[in-house]
Amino acid sequence: MKDCIFCKIVRGEIPSYTVYEDDVVKAFLDISQGTPGHTLLIPKKHIANIFDYDEELASEVFARIPKVARAIKNSNPAIKGMNIVNNNGQIAYQSVFHSHFHLVPRYTSHDDFGMTFKDNSNKYTPEKLKEIQQSIIDNMGD
Ligand code: 5GP
Ligand code: ZN
Repeated sequence: MKDCIFCKIVRGEIPSYTVYEDDVVKAFLDISQGTPGHTLLIPKKHIANIFDYDEELASEVFARIPKVARAIKNSNPAIKGMNIVNNNGQIAYQSVFHSHFHLVPRYTSHDDFGMTFKDNSNKYTPEKLKEIQQSIIDNMGD
């Protein structure tokens, strides 16, 4: 896509610190470096978000994540873990609308990455959970 910043990176029109590349994906350092080694893995094909993947592209892209994750982890003995984050839609903090997976190495519990969600389990009855479950199942498609 012409004006997409990640498509420009794929085409080499914008420089990037690429750590892995093949015919399907490109992985490069996120400019923000939330923590050192913060990497983005993207499909080379322009696709906006998770809702637009077909099974084949999803298999190809996801299959490459562990290899890049391991390389990042092995690059620095101070890396103790990793958050893999995929934002979809503005409401979910997506700011670049070419699908990407953040690989964020974790060093300590007080490094520069945080992710929280509330535990609302006490507000849900079994009936309500069943209703939500059924509504998702009804929309599963093929
Ligand atoms: P999002 O907020 O959409 O999940 O993540 C977009 C990410 O892209 C951000 O973490 C941001 O730092 C990164 N980013 C935006 N522009 C560029 C760029 O030109 N080069 C690189 N390497 N990263 C970028
Ligand atoms: Zn794009």
